[in-house]
Amino acid sequence: MGGREERGRAVGFCGNPNVGKSTLFNRLTGLRQHTGNWCGKTVGSARGWLEREGQSLMLVDTPGCCSLFAGSGEERAARDYVLLGGAEKLVVVCDASCLARGLVLALEVLEITGRVILCVNLVDEARSRGITVDTRRLARDLKIPVCGVCAATGDGVEELTQLLFDPLPPAPPREPCLPEGAAACLEPLTGYLEGQPLPARWLAAVLAEGEAELCGLLRDRLCLDPARDRTLEELTEQARADLARRGLDPGELGEQAARERDILAETLAAEASERKKPAGPSREERLDRVLTHRWLGVPVMAALLALVLWLTVWGANYPSELLGQWLFALGETIRRLLESWAPPWLVSAVVDGVWRTTAWVVSVMLPPMAIFFPLFTLLEDLGYLPRVAFNLDGAFARCSACGKQGLTMCQGLGCNAVGVTGCRIIDSPRERLIAILTNGFMPCNGRFPTLIALTGAFFAAGGAGGSLAAAGVLTAALLLGIGCTFLASRVLGGTILRGKPSSFVLELPPYRKPRVGQIVVRSLLDRTAFVLGRAVTVAAPAGLILWILANTAWGGTPLLEQGRRLLEPAGLALGMDGAILLGFLLGFPANEIVLPVILMCYTAGTSLVSYQGSAELAGILTANGWTPVTAVCVILFTLLHWPCGTTLLTIRRETGSWKWAAAAAALPTAFGVAACLLVRTVF
Ligand code: GDP
Repeated sequence: MGGREERGRAVGFCGNPNVGKSTLFNRLTGLRQHTGNWCGKTVGSARGWLEREGQSLMLVDTPGCCSLFAGSGEERAARDYVLLGGAEKLVVVCDASCLARGLVLALEVLEITGRVILCVNLVDEARSRGITVDTRRLARDLKIPVCGVCAATGDGVEELTQLLFDPLPPAPPREPCLPEGAAACLEPLTGYLEGQPLPARWLAAVLAEGEAELCGLLRDRLCLDPARDRTLEELTEQARADLARRGLDPGELGEQAARERDILAETLAAEASERKKPAGPSREERLDRVLTHRWLGVPVMAALLALVLWLTVWGANYPSELLGQWLFALGETIRRLLESWAPPWLVSAVVDGVWRTTAWVVSVMLPPMAIFFPLFTLLEDLGYLPRVAFNLDGAFARCSACGKQGLTMCQGLGCNAVGVTGCRIIDSPRERLIAILTNGFMPCNGRFPTLIALTGAFFAAGGAGGSLAAAGVLTAALLLGIGCTFLASRVLGGTILRGKPSSFVLELPPYRKPRVGQIVVRSLLDRTAFVLGRAVTVAAPAGLILWILANTAWGGTPLLEQGRRLLEPAGLALGMDGAILLGFLLGFPANEIVLPVILMCYTAGTSLVSYQGSAELAGILTANGWTPVTAVCVILFTLLHWPCGTTLLTIRRETGSWKWAAAAAALPTAFGVAACLLVRTVF
């Protein structure tokens, strides 16, 4: 293994989000990285190998970034790699339809190193919109190799591979974009910095500007620290004074450079691309007029959500029932096999505890997830999710929060821990914290099956029409979660996390034709299997613990029953009962087991009954005193209570404080308690 690392030369890939970088990387390396349409999904850098005629290259895929100097975690990771990753060459991937945006990044990279290849991807999509890019002209203007490719089909990838292996003609980095007269002010400092691994003038500009993050990086990685090097300190101060004397604010150097780069990129892009204006609005523009319409956008979004949920509820019911019957029957076979040699308590612990809890979780979770995830991935692949964020943007701004929060909410719908990590795409720490604290309002996979099972049991009369009613209730629950997110964001943004909403440009990527094969692989293998695997790893030991609690008595009463009795008053006050509250408490490690715990409490504390579908579930629950009002309270509390242990640990890691993790638990719980009290009082 070491040998391969030594032989390989590294080539880094960077690019704006959604330009097909992962697709290209996967095509070159034969790997299967995650692809998706929102930024922030490639967390960390991926590595793969490209071999040809005995030579090998290590390809490094960095997270998508709009600029090397923006503050999000992903952008920092990409910047650190470009600056100090030691790549032999860097490939900047850009979208042929949004060339200027990609060129801004390319110009930034070119100021750091001249060993750059520009890869103009998505040429097929650009062509279909009447855009052609003159790669030769770009190569001449930028003085670097440029190639046009279509990563989806592989067109042009051979030419790129050739460029990756060919030696690059030596090219110095570009002069940094600086306001007029600034270079002269930086001259003495530049002279002192010659010989460093990064271009001297670029370093001088960074030090003179004094941006804390970048200077910290130079201090830690290159030992460039004005606090420890007197000459460096004096020269930096002198450069700042000279700049000020010329009427230039050192603190604004970066921003001015960014403006100049924008202008240059626009010019280069305009000169290199030709755009044939179509006669009328394109199909995409017509679609966007509806999907992101001021008034229609949100209702269409709600309708789409309802459709996805209806398909999930309707499609999952029968397979869940079948799977439940099959798994429980298998449990009986295991019981017979064990009974011949194992003691009765062990048979009961394995079958009634571990097996039945796991079987329950699998049969309730697998079918809805196997339907919901492909549908969700389809919307992601089509490019609809950024439109969701766009539709919610105005509302977030009114809550003094960031529109990108909409994307992290979509991620939270899959898993809150992923949603919380996804909040790294939000630059402002204040807005990031708001997004982190409110992510728990989005029901994750662990809570979704409970919601689906309960709506199915209490609000679906049977058949497609009944599923429609259940989907309506589910959609209402989700919309309530979104509403609570806004309310909580507004309260936080107006009190402890006060501040102005930051402005950002949300790029609406083009609609893409989804690739069915990839969707199935990604949603079933990556997501469904992952989520199910996690659920099973929690459910199996939880099943054992539950069995022990249900079968170990203290003072003549099983422990599970004692817990239930202890929590009964609080449960009743919230419109539920002790068993339900115990379910939520024991579900802290993973929400998937909430319903199994409740059922175990009801079935006289011995073992779980088999899952025979909604009607049977409704029967057991009603026999234990549930009414539709109880179901509503449980649905509300499922939606609005503390996030699971993994999510809270992630929040602690992301915010660096237990205080915020506690706040993230308290916030939705307070909403849940209030909602349940309200329902109980009114009905
Ligand atoms: P990344 O965010 O830059 O890594 O982009 P991805 O690799 O995830 O690609 C984003 C979307 O663009 C996916 O739906 C890809 O299937 C699609 N895509 C990537 N390259 C091409 C291409 O050359 N042509 C077309 N039509 N679609 C592409």
